[in-house]
Amino acid sequence: MLSEFDLIKEYFQRPQHAARAPVALGIGDDCALIAPTPGMQTAISSDMLVEGRHFFAGEDPLRLGHKALAVNLSDLAAMGARPLGFTLALALPEANRGWLRGFSQGLFALADAFDIELIGGDTTKGPLTICITVFGELRPGQALRRDAAKPGDDIWISGTLGDARLALAGYRLELARPLDAASQRAAAVRMHTPVPRVALGVRLAEQGIAHAAIDISDGLIGDLGHILKRSRVGATLDVDALPAGAVLATQDTALRRAYCAAGGDDYELCFTAPVAARAAVLAAADSVATPVTRVGTIDAEGGLRLVDAHGAPLDLQLSSFDHFTS
Ligand code: ADP
Ligand code: MG
Repeated sequence: MLSEFDLIKEYFQRPQHAARAPVALGIGDDCALIAPTPGMQTAISSDMLVEGRHFFAGEDPLRLGHKALAVNLSDLAAMGARPLGFTLALALPEANRGWLRGFSQGLFALADAFDIELIGGDTTKGPLTICITVFGELRPGQALRRDAAKPGDDIWISGTLGDARLALAGYRLELARPLDAASQRAAAVRMHTPVPRVALGVRLAEQGIAHAAIDISDGLIGDLGHILKRSRVGATLDVDALPAGAVLATQDTALRRAYCAAGGDDYELCFTAPVAARAAVLAAADSVATPVTRVGTIDAEGGLRLVDAHGAPLDLQLSSFDHFTS
């Protein structure tokens, strides 16, 4: 039988990495200690994944380890903060070595890719639930806040949208024209292993290029709506300019529009920047090898106006994903 302490030691405690300077004391004591860079602000965010709600029962633990950390790093990206470290609170139905090995591998592969360390957490028996808290830092005044969009700003999206939602529709057998196996697999990569846009977010913040930003987790329209509300502005969104994922791009117009606009689980950045910063946005995106697309404009008039490629109004009758109504 694997005890709680053996489990932590075997799967989550690693030799302290000399280069990871902010971690003054990692796993093993009552608290972790971090030594923040003088003058910097700390950015903190938590995200919880619950079996049966955010992922299917029996989900591959390696992918789960990746995704649990990725969705948290995506929040740091959307704030423009550099990641420092993270904690992990884990409820497990049983201490299964195969599951723990896969999960910790997926988790640490992504942590190593961003050069951050797991500094503490909690482990308990219970229905499979994964809660990660990430810590990052940024210079005061540089955060990409939701309340900072200005009328006249361009609206930009990183990467592509909709393939994660398309994969989910495939799993749920919701599609009128089912995907072939290769397309389902390709779309599923976007659903299971999102890549947080940390480098882009940090660059946009540190160079003072963007005004507001949010990461798209619940669908673009809903998430952009948070920026509009907090910034007390409206927007016009060209739905046909939205960059569809490679698989979604092969689907019909109605599905493409719906899943780009309100799919969810994309973990791309939606950000606003002044028109005068267009060249700077493109240069920043290029420097971190992340494609960006201009998809609309922030308006002084409230409300969100969806238009097609010709500027004609579109009524998509969409709402983004809400955990308490769906
Ligand atoms: P406490 O009783 O003070 O809550 P624990 O016995 O739960 O402490 O944890 C012992 C140490 O292991 C602490 O440093 C804690 O941060 C760390 N820890 C516990 N669970 C995890 C986990 N899932 N991942 C990383 N560190 C963990
Ligand atoms: Mg504890």
